[in-house]
Amino acid sequence: MKAQPKASHFIDGEYVEDTAGTPFESVYPATGEVIARLHAATPAIVERAVASAKRAQKEWAAVSPTARGRILKRAAEIMRERNRALSGLETLDTGKPIQETIVADPTSGADAFEFFGGIAAAGLNGSHIPLGQDFAFTKRVPLGVCVGIGAWNYPQQIACWKGAPALVCGNAMVFKPSENTPLGALKIAEILIEAGLPKGLFNVIQGDRATGPLLVEHPDVAKVSLTGSVPTGRKVAAAAAGRLKHVTMELGGKSPLIVFDDADLDSAVGGAMLGNFYSTGQVCSNGTRVFVHNAVRDDFLARLKARTERIVIGDPMDEATQLGPMVSYAQREKVLSYIEAGKAEGATLVTGGGIPNNVSGEGYYVQPTVFADVTDGMTIAREEIFGPVMCVLDFEDEDEVIARANATEFGLSGGVFTADLSRAHRVVDRLEAGTLWINTYNLCPVEIPFGGSKQSGFGRENSLSALEHYSELKTVYVAMGKVEAPY
Ligand code: NAD
Repeated sequence: MKAQPKASHFIDGEYVEDTAGTPFESVYPATGEVIARLHAATPAIVERAVASAKRAQKEWAAVSPTARGRILKRAAEIMRERNRALSGLETLDTGKPIQETIVADPTSGADAFEFFGGIAAAGLNGSHIPLGQDFAFTKRVPLGVCVGIGAWNYPQQIACWKGAPALVCGNAMVFKPSENTPLGALKIAEILIEAGLPKGLFNVIQGDRATGPLLVEHPDVAKVSLTGSVPTGRKVAAAAAGRLKHVTMELGGKSPLIVFDDADLDSAVGGAMLGNFYSTGQVCSNGTRVFVHNAVRDDFLARLKARTERIVIGDPMDEATQLGPMVSYAQREKVLSYIEAGKAEGATLVTGGGIPNNVSGEGYYVQPTVFADVTDGMTIAREEIFGPVMCVLDFEDEDEVIARANATEFGLSGGVFTADLSRAHRVVDRLEAGTLWINTYNLCPVEIPFGGSKQSGFGRENSLSALEHYSELKTVYVAMGKVEAPY
């Protein structure tokens, strides 16, 4: 078994198995080969993970932020030292090409540990509020046991983006990776222990949609941070509301990317390709509705087609490969059915549209696909596909394109390519989304807040803002004189 971990779960500093849990297999998406056999968490495992986190959190909350930060920074160093091995594991877990994972996955996780470790000492200060002779002060206090639930597109990054701010604020975390990608988070848990994190503060348990609710509804859990689809977000938010838990929701999107006629066209084509084909299109913030001004539409499509047809599809472990398979057979089938819907509803297939014939075997590959002449009502323009399928829509006028871009329940991201600075700012101001880019797409360094609006979620990951979502303020009023009471 290529990537068999010592056991399915990591609790209180060690690997733990409970063979009473539902067995499941981890499959390498490029070949269909079983690379690990695991068990979903039983209720007993959930109890054990939450109890260990609850116990450990009490002591951790009393550790100084500087000391907490030091451990996270050490974890970042270890991740960087092991980047190649961790990237290889991420590729096995997801099927994403090593060319990507080596620059975008463990390194991004390490950035989160380094950033939050670095700001720990200053970022958690409270404030002093003068009130005449009296005063008040605020303290930023941890929430307690936080639960992280991950999607399958960035398993290591998601574990770190949630774990780093949670831990630095003095919380413990129980993390449940996606059942499609169970492996990476276990390594993050191991590395945190090696870096000096006390046992129980970062536990990983396996499972699927049956396991998630056991965590979300657990009375000892104070907060849930989910990365997943909108339907899952609705269920998790509703379950968390039963006990008024804190919630962060990083959900799906159908984001607009608008290319005006004065844009640097090669950059716009490059941005659109990165925003649709990176990670085989399995990126929540992707600009999947590419609105291109009529005046440059033909030129844009010609350059896009030529560059898309040069994408190297193949073995994800080969460093030359630029596009790997979808994460699972089910996801590939879903993407292929959207491609069929695009054809049936009258969109023009510019390139792709099926399974590539240069890759052999059982891998879940889909060709990078571009549809033109897409109209707003088509299924492929309205629903999140989560695969390498780009929809190009035409537009003529700024007001018109903004109205059409906003005509969606989603609001995760958006982008604009134009040489006109005023127009760029005007457009991003009017786009209803949480994260926007001007003349680039999908860059998400840890320094900037990331998250959605509308049905794409609430709360923010990364940046100083994340601290607010893993802590709360305690306010203390201090009276300096005697109490004056009218009775
Ligand atoms: P999903 O919603 O199917 O599953 C996400 C996670 O939730 C999994 O770990 C799953 O086991 C768990 N889950 C499912 N039902 C649950 C329930 N009722 N209670 C608790 N947990 C439950 O999503 P996916 O297919 O793994 O990922 C793809 C989706 O995630 C896409 O919609 C994508 O846009 C979104 N996503 C969003 C972001 C972001 O940051 N906004 C990032 C990556 C992916």
